[in-house]
Amino acid sequence: MAERFNFHVNSRDGMARQGVISTPRGDIRTPAFMPVGTAATVKAMMPESVAATGADILLGNTYHLMLRPTAERIDRLGGLHRFMNWQKPILTDSGGFQVMSLTGLRKLTEQGVKFKSHIDGSEHMLTPERSMEIQRLLGSDIVMCFDECPALPAPEERVAESMRMSMRWAARSRDAFGDRPGHALFGIQQGGVTRDLRAESAEKLRAIGFDGYAVGGLAVGEGQEAMFGVLDYATDMLPEDKPRYLMGVGKPDDIVGAVARGIDMMDCVLPSRSGRTGQVFTRRGVVNIKNARHQDDPRPLDETCACPACRGYSRAYLHHVFRAQEIISSMLLTWHNLHYYQELMQGIREAIAAGRFEAFQADFHAQRAEGDIAPL
Ligand SMILES: [Zn+2]
Repeated sequence: MAERFNFHVNSRDGMARQGVISTPRGDIRTPAFMPVGTAATVKAMMPESVAATGADILLGNTYHLMLRPTAERIDRLGGLHRFMNWQKPILTDSGGFQVMSLTGLRKLTEQGVKFKSHIDGSEHMLTPERSMEIQRLLGSDIVMCFDECPALPAPEERVAESMRMSMRWAARSRDAFGDRPGHALFGIQQGGVTRDLRAESAEKLRAIGFDGYAVGGLAVGEGQEAMFGVLDYATDMLPEDKPRYLMGVGKPDDIVGAVARGIDMMDCVLPSRSGRTGQVFTRRGVVNIKNARHQDDPRPLDETCACPACRGYSRAYLHHVFRAQEIISSMLLTWHNLHYYQELMQGIREAIAAGRFEAFQADFHAQRAEGDIAPL
């Protein structure tokens, strides 16, 4: 295993890249999709099951973990990997985005964000320095800079002010992170949907210097077309030789489109959250398992899928346990969804390596356009 954090691009196809991030905790094949383990668990999944879907890395949330059970407690218990029984790499977010989106009561200053816990109303302060400390206590392999971003659409002046403060916070994050061999710190590009602001942000981040670069402030309500419009130029502004991470994305077609625009890493709650609400992702689009058309259907969700939900259970059974609110429903549907996402990533990586990513995209869209198999 690698002693240091390192990124290597193996092949390119257009803007798309296929490669590997090496860390002391294992390799991350890119483009990579990271399942979200908000409160030290990917809901409804055992960690070994998450690994079995093909995930090389998962994401933990600083905001949730600092409030409960607290970073200090996780540190005393041996760090997040040991605490949640996941030995592969973990990326943690900085807490900034969730503080702004989840807490109604907060005060934003140059120093940081003061807020009240959504759990018990207790008062907390998150700053770049405190975020770095929490992520160190958790033992995160990939640490994210503390930043702030407005929901879109927002006035350009507000987006510019926010981006410049985030860049000052990025410098403070870099100083507070220090030198930690084997661990990586990623900067986050901001600037909304304004090209000049994205360029200014990228320039400031490059001057500070990071192990990887995230495109932040997207997937916050701007829509896919606007997001792709930004990615068409924003990824190119970031260093070629470092991983590029699109935060909080997305739906399967968002992922394919982002990879085509040079993105190497993504994360999203969608496959796991949808598993609990009966939304199933397949090659042929989204299946809603609660629909009555499935109640007598002995066929699997997807006959070509090798996941436990598709190998052992019918649509009729999955429909029944969902309607009966049985726990196995969340378990099976989450497993299938995460399996589907990882299989999609594997297909993407193989297609880029073979120089046929364009054909892959055409097949991907054609299959989805067919829609679900016809009812019996
Ligand atoms: Zn399946």
